[in-house]
Amino acid sequence: MAITISALKEAPGENRVALSPDVVGKLVKQDYQVFIEKGAGDRAFYQDTVYTDAGAQVVDRNTAIEKASLIATVGQPGADVVDHMQAGQALLGLLAPLTDLEFVKKLAAKKINALAFELLPRTVSRAQTMDVLSSQSSVAGYKAALLAADRFSRYLPMMITAAGTAKPAKVLVLGTGVAGLQAIGTANRLGAMVSGYDIRPASRGEVESLGAKFLTTSVSATGEGGYARVLTKEETAKQQAELAGFIAENDVIITTAQVPGRRPPLLVTQESVDQAKAGTIFIDLAASALGGNVAGSKEGETVTTKNGAQIIAAGDMASQLPASASDMFAKNVQAVITDITKDGELTFDVDDEVVGELLATYQGEFISSRVRSAMKLPDRHPAEPAADETAATTDATEATKTKGAD
Ligand code: NAD
Repeated sequence: MAITISALKEAPGENRVALSPDVVGKLVKQDYQVFIEKGAGDRAFYQDTVYTDAGAQVVDRNTAIEKASLIATVGQPGADVVDHMQAGQALLGLLAPLTDLEFVKKLAAKKINALAFELLPRTVSRAQTMDVLSSQSSVAGYKAALLAADRFSRYLPMMITAAGTAKPAKVLVLGTGVAGLQAIGTANRLGAMVSGYDIRPASRGEVESLGAKFLTTSVSATGEGGYARVLTKEETAKQQAELAGFIAENDVIITTAQVPGRRPPLLVTQESVDQAKAGTIFIDLAASALGGNVAGSKEGETVTTKNGAQIIAAGDMASQLPASASDMFAKNVQAVITDITKDGELTFDVDDEVVGELLATYQGEFISSRVRSAMKLPDRHPAEPAADETAATTDATEATKTKGAD
């Protein structure tokens, strides 16, 4: 029997869809059967007929859920989906496994095999085609720079005209990972004077290679896997103080700082917001229900401060460029599906370095080491001591024994 893949209509406010017609066509060619919930692609401008032409069956929501070996989703699916799923079905998407442990527990209790993109080990080269965090951050950074250009009350580039000369706008990007670099590149192409800031010193070269200025900071905090680590209280205070001066000098501040599985760090304090010039635009890409990088940013809202600055909570930027974002998301989904297909079946190798980390739950068990650590569970495979460590331990034991015998 063919493997069946379904995509559903996402929650209101989410414009993306997990499968694009292009990817549906490719999956169908490889003998997968694809079910799309009626209207699932509407907000990304993919109508039902386009999916039908690509070889999918457009069906009602319950049929799409019931028929699926695997449901591909952009965000966490609603309770109606999980309640309707059966043990042994798989779910793949951005499932917030580190920030919503109750949801993961529910999936485990139902024995749903859940693969969460947030858990992907991104530095493994085989995983790069599956990297939703990168593909969607790239879209978000691009869209953030365009939004800034649209909302700022002046030109971004320098303009020399018969009616006078306009100075280029100054854009500061805080957090220069995937989204930040894309925002820098886009703002640069629009002619702004751009600078970038990050606490990972490694990002200096990347920022400078885009023609932007890297702001030197006295805080350096590279953590595991190339990510930033959480700053101490003292480091946070130091950072906020040194950023205050940079913020006051800029017209547009785009913030993207994240620490995986944690509340985003507060980079722009209330004091910095209060000192911003009238017309300053803050675009907070980190804004979510957990909070954002800018004091006073409110998920889904634009706040105008008393001194005439605007704080735009922009956690949904990828959803605001839905067709491109869905195309890339769907490619990442396809890469996971083909990776876990062996001999015409979906297989979940819990010991594989990519799949074993991507799997939040399998057959009712928590698999990913990051989920287990968040749940305060022991490692599934406690690290074996290294050979010389074993020898050292044995020597020490022998020494103790000898001492005891004395
Ligand atoms: P992210 O979304 O987790 O965070 C965005 C940026 O915010 C990061 O650059 C981070 O250093 C920065 N940040 C965090 N706390 C900060 C603070 N207090 N002040 C200032 N900046 C802060 O990051 P990301 O875009 O997912 O990328 C993280 C790293 O992973 C980067 O080095 C990126 O190049 C790397 N990466 C590698 C691969 C790969 O090897 N295939 C793929 C994707 C990303």
